[in-house]
Amino acid sequence: MELTFLGGAREVGRSSVLVETDARLLLDYGIKIHADTAYPMPHQGEIDAAVITHAHLDHSGFVPELYDNDEPMWLGTPPTRTLCEILIPDCARILQRERGGLPYRHGSIKQAFENFEPVGYGQGKSIRNTRINFHEAGHITGSAIVEIQHKKTKIVYTGDFKMSQTRMHEAARPIKEAHALIMESTYFDREHPTRDEIERDLCERAREVMENKGNLLLPAFAVGRTQELIRVFRAHMRDVPIYVDGMGWDASKAVAKHTNYIRNPKLFRKDLESVRHVKSRQEREKALKDPCIMIASAGMLQGGPAMSYLLMLNAREHPDRSKIVFTGYCVEGTNGHNLLNKGFVDVGGEQLKVKVPYEYLDLSAHAGREELFSFVQKSAPEKVFCMHGDKPDEFAEELKLEGFDAIAPKIGERFEI
Ligand SMILES: [Zn+2]
Ligand SMILES: [Zn+2]
Repeated sequence: MELTFLGGAREVGRSSVLVETDARLLLDYGIKIHADTAYPMPHQGEIDAAVITHAHLDHSGFVPELYDNDEPMWLGTPPTRTLCEILIPDCARILQRERGGLPYRHGSIKQAFENFEPVGYGQGKSIRNTRINFHEAGHITGSAIVEIQHKKTKIVYTGDFKMSQTRMHEAARPIKEAHALIMESTYFDREHPTRDEIERDLCERAREVMENKGNLLLPAFAVGRTQELIRVFRAHMRDVPIYVDGMGWDASKAVAKHTNYIRNPKLFRKDLESVRHVKSRQEREKALKDPCIMIASAGMLQGGPAMSYLLMLNAREHPDRSKIVFTGYCVEGTNGHNLLNKGFVDVGGEQLKVKVPYEYLDLSAHAGREELFSFVQKSAPEKVFCMHGDKPDEFAEELKLEGFDAIAPKIGERFEI
């Protein structure tokens, strides 16, 4: 078995690993969008299947490109398809707007979905003598850890994962006896606060803002974060008005249909019924009139309704009565990152100072430091490849000190397993 790292090596974004057995597979085929757009490095030859761990664009966004000149299978869990149907066309619109064109033929999007083959957790799929299995990754709805077996060789690719339960998902479990474990290392140098702590903090902020007669704005990723926030707030606060604006609404509706892939589907549906959907620009002013929680995309404040709300709150007579809380990672160069680190956002090329108080609360859908180490220890693989992080080389060094054969591959590097 051979592995070639095409993207996501020593970076976050455009994750992709080429696996060659008697089949040629791409594990994820993502895109780096915003700030610096980037795609996986080119590969030679035909591909049998794109094996996509989850719908986030850094893992799925470049899949249409595979259909420009070829027709590989696209393997993923059913929710991955549903969520990609929302995210990939949106990504295409952003690329068109920001880059002036698409890096693939427009018709390839449709063709990609026509070649989608759903594979559930534990269901398995064989291509010649290569067996592909998906396991719960605990990251977003339908996210999977991929296990690939060819003859006696087994590799495990984590995609993005979380080893503790969230409101929406079960925890990921380690997979033993792998010859190679390819894993994300996003938060190897950081521990997340416990779920209890973070839920308490979020609800405290909401209560403070309600008492001040302000609005709590949560810029949130449409897929994953929006649903988790709805569940968290509703678990503690039944009566506070919650609004969802942007793609997060469609994503939540889509997720609710995949009852086998969420922890408490009945409860989630009930929560969703109590949430109000902002359907138009006109409704935005109206929604903010009374104290409320507003969950709006985009998560990193790169446009979307979240930015409109920020501008509305900032222009108020008492902007300090409201609050902006980020709960997800903001990439450098985005408005979210600028606000959190420099106190301004970019509006049409001008820097706007934000007067609304803002804060970051770490409601992560990724494994924290302890979980990453524990995953390696419990799965005890022969070799570990650390990717999907800013400093995977440091993570690999630490793993070596614990006696593991670990490496942070560079982009384009090839390994025999
Ligand atoms: Zn992800
Ligand atoms: Zn990712």
